[in-house]
Amino acid sequence: MTDTMIDVSRSGSAPSVRELRHRAEVTTLAAAGLLTAVGLVVAAWAALGGIEIPAWASAALIGLASPFIAGLAIIRFTYWKEIADAVEITPTQLPEIHAAYVEMANSMGLERVPRLYLKNGNGGLNAFASKCQVRRAYVVIFSDLVDIAYEHDDLDGVRFVLAHELGHIHCGHVDLWRLAIMAVPRALFVGRTVTRAQEYTADRCAARFAPEGATSMMALFAGKRMYRRVDLDAYFDSIENHKDGFWLRFANFWSGHAVGFRRMQPLRDIEATGWDVHGRMF
Ligand SMILES: [Zn+2]
Repeated sequence: MTDTMIDVSRSGSAPSVRELRHRAEVTTLAAAGLLTAVGLVVAAWAALGGIEIPAWASAALIGLASPFIAGLAIIRFTYWKEIADAVEITPTQLPEIHAAYVEMANSMGLERVPRLYLKNGNGGLNAFASKCQVRRAYVVIFSDLVDIAYEHDDLDGVRFVLAHELGHIHCGHVDLWRLAIMAVPRALFVGRTVTRAQEYTADRCAARFAPEGATSMMALFAGKRMYRRVDLDAYFDSIENHKDGFWLRFANFWSGHAVGFRRMQPLRDIEATGWDVHGRMF
């Protein structure tokens, strides 16, 4: 830790969800809600006029129905399908991972600690949070990400990933009402903008509760074995040497997770400025 580094993980009380959100999240979510409302109006107008409902407007109807369908069957089936091929992480199964996870869930003030599972990543570096019941969530982390804790002694990197997933739950990203208002934006190819803001929010949560592991996210872009060899200064110099123009912005706009050239910047800035860093949306 450098002299200028702020130990943001241990100091002060936990920030509110509002403080944790990326500054674009509420705006993009409101826009998503507005698009859904417009879709409903157009669908009602078309139905009353006996006109065929446009596909994007009918997405509003599907979206509103989806939480009920999801609540009834889809989330239950998806949960069991995912975890029946996984290993639950518990106080007696990978206890060091479990202890770090519980500590962060408690620090965030989650009502209950979501169940955590390890799944064979088959080379993929991923993790996700989702609902298993209407009011209960769970987290899955892929084995290739957990490998970095044991192969590189990088538990901090795994803590960052787990804090990111808990952040999705803490900030309501897996709530079913979000499903309802996302159908029209997805049909109009702008749903990823909401997702991208949510991903930045989850990174901000992780940056607040597990800042020491932030730069380990380099593993997502350099691989779980090579990331430790990546010179971060040279990496950021090379980003500077690329044109920051329309196509980079479009590539970022088209991504549900900000592209590496964008996502790594706030993760590095944590060291100098603290956790309150906002990545670029475009
Ligand atoms: Zn995420």
